[in-house]
Amino acid sequence: MIQSFNPPVRTLMGPGPSDIAPRVLAAMSRPTIGHLDPAFIQMMDEIKQMLQYAFQTKNELTMPVSAPGSAGMETCFVNLVEPGDKVIVCQNGVFGGRMKENVERCGGVAVMVEDDWGTAVSVDKVQAALEQNPDAKVLAFVHAETSTGAISDAKALCALAREHDCLTIVDAVTSLGGSELRVDEWGIDAIYSGTQKCLSCPPGISPVSFSERAVEAVKARKTSVPSWFLDTNLVMGYWGAGAKRAYHHTAPVNALYALHEGLVMLQDEGLENAWARHDKHHQALRAGLEAMGLKFLVAEGERLPQLNSVFIPEGVDDAALRTTLLNDYSLEIGAGLGAFAGKVWRIGLMGAACTQRNVMFCLMALENTLLAQGISLEAGKAGQAALAVYQ
Ligand SMILES: *Cc1c(COP(=O)(O)O)cnc(C)c1O
Repeated sequence: MIQSFNPPVRTLMGPGPSDIAPRVLAAMSRPTIGHLDPAFIQMMDEIKQMLQYAFQTKNELTMPVSAPGSAGMETCFVNLVEPGDKVIVCQNGVFGGRMKENVERCGGVAVMVEDDWGTAVSVDKVQAALEQNPDAKVLAFVHAETSTGAISDAKALCALAREHDCLTIVDAVTSLGGSELRVDEWGIDAIYSGTQKCLSCPPGISPVSFSERAVEAVKARKTSVPSWFLDTNLVMGYWGAGAKRAYHHTAPVNALYALHEGLVMLQDEGLENAWARHDKHHQALRAGLEAMGLKFLVAEGERLPQLNSVFIPEGVDDAALRTTLLNDYSLEIGAGLGAFAGKVWRIGLMGAACTQRNVMFCLMALENTLLAQGISLEAGKAGQAALAVYQ
């Protein structure tokens, strides 16, 4: 007979999902109620309000899409891009490439601005692209590239887009709740995120927010939105303020309890404190990794605190090391992607996983495992270096 599934207890320090806060898991196991129950509708309103806080926006169209981050990405593109529309897409890692795919599947024309993987999006190149393409409707870029660990200057990029009367689509899957992000102040038009990175929730929900300008652009479409499920006009009949809360799809009730709890935690901690926490533990982890002789992929100043990519030292068996971490320490770190497969590790410090305990544990486990593979390093030095940052 097949038995109940009992997953191993892991420490998740990869690119997501990250550790789920125990109180979020507890919230998820509360009794399911109807998705049109008045008590549920009230909770939905609280989610919207807390998402507005997390995004730092007053946007009325702020809601969680009932699907993972990739669906939030699609929501932005299918609603804002019509056949023939020109979209400037910045690519400096995996996710910019997916944006291009989205533009093309919507019938749009993607004008690519490419930067090396592991660097931030070049503001100068974007400015040149905007000047050369005055007919561009949208500028799309990834704020926090999880494939490399580089963060881009969303504020400057959005300001440029506004100067050129261009809408913006911003991927904030890994930045929301982890790095400074101000949707209204920076003039972001359409933004999407995910629950499994810095919000300490399970995967499967994608918060999105659209500015007034973006909503106007959706209304001004000549063609209907090609996706029924992701059409904001329809889904806002369920999520919109003053809407009839009519049935659109059955909301993932318990997953939304989880998101609600994760957002209560964020509100209790304070958004700016959460940003500062990610930075503090990044500094300690970095000190420890560098004490082990590991080098960062991304230059200082462009590093994403919640995703630390370091080069794998010469002579290390990448797959064997990650298997040992998983088997002996129940610790997951991320492998490299694309051109960096086998070349870097991606160590995540996201949401509930971003703690001193995890930083110290990861450094100890990595140090022991490197020593066991015959890499010469001074035992204990990494932990001391991290502690020095904390003291
Ligand atoms: C994880 C991630 C996504 C995709 O989210 P899923 O929940 O896996 O669909 C998109 N963009 C970035 C930057 C991500 O890190």
